[in-house]
Order: sequence, then structure tokens, then C-alpha cells
Amino acid sequence: MEELLVAVPSEAQPSGPWDVDYYKRNNLYFHLVEVNEVVAGSSRVQVTGHGEMLMFGSYSYLGLIGHPRVNAAAIDAVKRYGTGTNGVRLLAGTLPIHNQLEERIAELKGTQDAITFSSGYAANVSTISALVGRHDAVFCDKLDHASIVDGCRLSGAKLVRFNHNDVDDLDRRLALNADSAQKLVVVDGVYSMDGDVADLPGLRRVCDRHGALLMVDEAHALGVIGATGKGIEEHFNLPPATVDIKMGTLSKAIPSVGGYVASSRELVSTLKHQARAFIYSAALPPASAAASLAALNVMQEEPERVQRLQSNAAYMLRTLREAGFDLLQSETAIAPVICGSAEIAARLMMHCVAAGVFVQAVLPPVVPEGLARLRATVTANHNFEDIDNFVSVLSDGAKAGGLL
Ligand code: PMP
Repeated sequence: MEELLVAVPSEAQPSGPWDVDYYKRNNLYFHLVEVNEVVAGSSRVQVTGHGEMLMFGSYSYLGLIGHPRVNAAAIDAVKRYGTGTNGVRLLAGTLPIHNQLEERIAELKGTQDAITFSSGYAANVSTISALVGRHDAVFCDKLDHASIVDGCRLSGAKLVRFNHNDVDDLDRRLALNADSAQKLVVVDGVYSMDGDVADLPGLRRVCDRHGALLMVDEAHALGVIGATGKGIEEHFNLPPATVDIKMGTLSKAIPSVGGYVASSRELVSTLKHQARAFIYSAALPPASAAASLAALNVMQEEPERVQRLQSNAAYMLRTLREAGFDLLQSETAIAPVICGSAEIAARLMMHCVAAGVFVQAVLPPVVPEGLARLRATVTANHNFEDIDNFVSVLSDGAKAGGLL
């Protein structure tokens, strides 16, 4: 049998939290590496110490990093406004570009208004903690992103977790908490570690039955799902009023940084006057806001990017499954290649790295014990040949390591 390119560690794998030193000592550590050159439109990157690598770990789903129009918009904004803002939005920090970006997001998401934050993390923490308090209950899917959970904890509301994508379980838990003043349900639209899509029709039905508000985090949905990349409502052919509070980031398909919430005028106004990350933290830098606005325009004007991403995603999932890999229920651009133990995932990652493929292992506690995985992401910049190469490298490693 062909050997994995990475030797089995001589010491036993530690249990408990991620033991960084163990992974470093055993050459199983490929984190915090420097990607020092990204060529616009390419699936390849230059990585310090590794040379050119085929990228399967990027969130630039639409391949917009380095897009000339996006870069030019950022440069123009720096020339016009400089590199920072004059403080927080509520005081002197609001620039026209912030309002234009928020109007554009609201238009895209079919809402009355939108608010931006300096990150998606800040958007979730701040929005949830502004909207619910100690007399309320907030219901989260067990696989919700950490920023959602942190927002719930900070809010002081009762935190109720329901089984992953199980609307019947949510229904039961909402019924058990009928006496809460306000009920807020928060889910990922596309689950960031598993790549599956939230059951939006079921969630809406159950929320309506219990008078609960529905908030959906579209960090991995914007630009990725829906015929034109508009996200989860378009994916299910449901009207834009299906989700009450639409959160997303400007750091993935949109190649910038920042987070947003699109919703009713009243709710956005509440957030603009009560969300602590908006009130107490500096405004989005002009270059980031301008790049986001330009990228949203490119996304709509170059719909072939969304189509290419979706066909690459379907091809990657199909070829990986045909090769025998377990990808859970993924149906998007995220392929969770389940390895089981953290050590197998780390060795398979290093096998890929040695073969020139950039892909990251995700280990417990980020994912449940026994479900360590390689988490591969595909973009509009890949072609089928790139995907075939990746699947072939992965299959060789998995066969040698006894995973296949
Ligand atoms: N929500 C989800 C589902 C995410 O995956 C992420 C980023 N990994 C965030 C929120 C936070 O977004 P940002 O990186 O813009 O802070």
C-alpha cells in the first residue's frame, strides 16, 4: 500500500482541546501560513515556504479578490477619504460611501434598510444582544456559528439549542418556552462547517406558529446560493420577506471586510442607535466600504460567476462522493471531507500540502469529536481540472491512510 506522505506520529494523539505543540512537533500544523500573492482570477496562490499552491481553502467564492473594478474602487476611496474614518458612525464617522453601501445591500436583499458593521462577527454579536434581553429566549441550531452563540450569551436571553436543521425539535422547544416575552430564532443559511442549507420553508412555518422572529446568517450563502447569488430566499424561490433579519458578511464572496444586517426600517434604526459594535466602534474604512459596493455590482453584472461557482460546487461534491468520501449533507461550495480522528484529518491535510494543495483540517472542538475533517471550499476561479487534481491527491492520501 502506498504510504501517506506524512508519517504516523510516534506519540499518542492527545485528547481534549487542540494541543498546538503536539501538531507542530509532529509536522501536522499548517495554520497561520502566509499567502503572499493572490493572482486575480487564478485558483493558485504563492505561499511562503511552499511556493505555488492550488487553493482549496479560500472564501473568495466568486473569485473577486483582486478584481480590477473592486481594487480601483478601493483606491479611489482612499484618494478621496483617506485610510480611516473620523470615528464611530453615530458621531463623525459616516461617509456617503457607507450610506450608498447600505442602500445597495437593502436593494439586493429586498428590505427597507440595512446597517453595516466592521465585521460579520461584530454584526452577529451586536445585533442579537441589541434585540433580545433577559426576559426573552433565543433559539439556535446546534451548528450555528460561534458569533451567533456569543451574541446570544451576551444578550442575557435564555439560550435554547435545537438539533441541527430539525424544525420539529425547534417547534417543541418554542412550545416549551411559550412564556418568553420575545422569541428569536437564529440559524446559519449555509452551515459554515458542513455546507448544508437551512430548511427555510420549515423554519418560517414554525416561527409563524409561535410568533418568533427569524434571523438568518448568510455568510456562506450570499453569492453562493440562489440563481443569481442573492441567497437563501432565492434558493428556495421564496419572497424577500421570508426572513425577518438577514445578516451577512462582506468578507467572503464579497472580497472585503465587514458585516451587514438587512431588515425593516424600524429594526435597522433600532440597531443604529442600540447595537454596541455600531455605536462604540469605528466605522468601516472607506476602502472596505467602496470595495464591497463595487463587488456587489460586479456580482450582479457578471452572473456567470455565480453559475460557474455553482457548477464547480456540484462537480466537486459529485466527484468527491464518487471517490467514496463522506461529505455529510453538503450541497454548496463547502465540502466537509469527514476523516473521523483529528490525527487522520491533520495527516491528510499535510499530504495535500506536500502535493501542493492548500486545504485546512478542522478539528474538535470547532467540530464535534469524531467528526474531524478537511474542509475544502471551491470558487468560481477553479476549473474541473483543478477539482480533478484535488480529488486525485486526496484519494491517494486517503487510500494510503486507510480512510478509503
Ligand atoms: N458567520 C458565519 C457563518 C461565518 O462563517 C463567519 C466567518 N467565518 C462569520 C459569521 C463572521 O464573519 P466575519 O469574518 O466577517 O467576521
